[in-house]
Amino acid sequence: MTVPAHDELVTETAAILSRLGVHDLPRTGAGLIARSPVTGGELARVHAHTAAEVADIVGAASEAFRQWRAVPGPVRGQLVRELGELLREHKADLGALVSIEAGKIRSEGLGEVQEMIDICDLAVGQSRQLFGLTIASERPGHRMMEQWHPLGVVGVISAFNFPVAVWSWNAALAFVCGDAVVWKPSEKTLLTALACQALLAEAARRVGAPEGLSALVLGGAEVGEALVDDPRVALISATGSTRMGKAVAPRVAARFGRLLLELGGNNAAVVAPSADLDLAVRGIVFSAAGTAGQRCTTLRRVIVHESIADDLVARIKAAYETLPIGSPLAIGGTPGSAGVAAEGVLVGPLIDQASYEGYVAALDKAQANGGTLVAGGARVLADQAPDAYYVQPALVRMPTQSEIVRAETFAPILYVMTYADFDEALAMHNEVPQGLSSSIFTLNLREAEQFISAAGSDCGIANVNIGPSGAEIGGAFGGEKETGGGRESGSDAWKAYMRRATNTVNYSTDLPLAQGVQFG
Ligand code: NAD
Repeated sequence: MTVPAHDELVTETAAILSRLGVHDLPRTGAGLIARSPVTGGELARVHAHTAAEVADIVGAASEAFRQWRAVPGPVRGQLVRELGELLREHKADLGALVSIEAGKIRSEGLGEVQEMIDICDLAVGQSRQLFGLTIASERPGHRMMEQWHPLGVVGVISAFNFPVAVWSWNAALAFVCGDAVVWKPSEKTLLTALACQALLAEAARRVGAPEGLSALVLGGAEVGEALVDDPRVALISATGSTRMGKAVAPRVAARFGRLLLELGGNNAAVVAPSADLDLAVRGIVFSAAGTAGQRCTTLRRVIVHESIADDLVARIKAAYETLPIGSPLAIGGTPGSAGVAAEGVLVGPLIDQASYEGYVAALDKAQANGGTLVAGGARVLADQAPDAYYVQPALVRMPTQSEIVRAETFAPILYVMTYADFDEALAMHNEVPQGLSSSIFTLNLREAEQFISAAGSDCGIANVNIGPSGAEIGGAFGGEKETGGGRESGSDAWKAYMRRATNTVNYSTDLPLAQGVQFG
């Protein structure tokens, strides 16, 4: 596998950005540095916002909100319909930019843009269904109902690993719900954010949406904090590490703002004796090694019955040893080659050096805790790309679920532990601080049903005979415990972006009081 020459990557990136409506970013000077994990090199410089600029942007968004909330929901849906159309048109380019900036393989970069299109479709339909209940009143001549009203300015903070989808999950619903959106993307994925904002600006221009309805604030934690602390931001929807959530949550709570948290996961698969092992191995390898282990839903723990553990580990090891690792894109030679997938590559780079150091430290700690490294565990392609961090997905057998297994290391490390009894497997499964996604491989109906029952997995997502990663639009996405409790994208997630008003209307000539209270 080869890593592209950095200069060619820079040229391709500038061409893609220009087609997406982002022009002439400087390569030098002040500002934030946009890098690619594919080569580890710099791509461009981007303006960093100050706290004062964040305040002005939130002010403009508040003004836009006042205009937008008066536009009927189905008409607001037209903005998101236009965004969906633009995403269809630019899917190849935006998907390539995701690969360049987040290191995802071509298919996953495109998949992320498809997910944006899917949420736009869902949100357009939702724009005609922002309805509440009519409730029977105990008082004669009275009617009780609820209405859902636009909420205000929504502050979106997002992580590097889903640089475009997470914004769209929030923004598509927020816009149809009548809100304005101020987005602080990860400082590691600035260019994809600029591209999304450019597409949204074009959609807004087409439908005549108010100026300032959608805005970006760029920078690190301090810019996020300026957004978090602004009392004009009605909802903070923050996606990232549990560490970030612990910093953000008390600040928002202190001003009684609303919070939607999508934080770290430590997702497991239980593999029972009856499991279809061919299926299980495919599900496990995609969930654990795919996206180089950098999904919040990445499979990090396998809890396998002791009778099949050796067989399963041998099969995963064999699959791991053939996983092609390298640049996601076949950049080089001809203009436009950034859109071409590197033949066969399934594992791209880690996002940066800190991520690599976390991978090494976790493997050292696991082995110090009695773990055995069965496959992978090494850095590759360092000779071709000394500033990029490509690693072999690692497979480690652990005697117990020790401290390092209970922590989320955002890299491709899969820990395997055994169980003898199903209740023990469930207890081990739930005995971690995070509660995002989970799965069971079994052909035993009782085990499958028990796993997804109230007494089973304690996660927000529990799957049967598929791995924990790869959610689709339609279902509510999010998790419990240190994952933060938020739900996004499907089911009734739209309600988080609106405020509910209960209305009681008296159409009689009397004034009966509830609960039979007499007054005078
Ligand atoms: P991160 O926590 O380092 O950063 C996420 C975002 O939070 C960035 O935009 C960052 O600038 C911002 N931020 C950091 N500290 C802040 C503070 N004090 N105030 C305001 N903003 C702050 O996460 P990351 O490394 O970009 O992403 C990986 C993490 O995100 C993993 O833990 C992963 O599980 C999690 N994640 C969760 C989900 C989910 O839906 N549950 C989805 C994607 C990623």
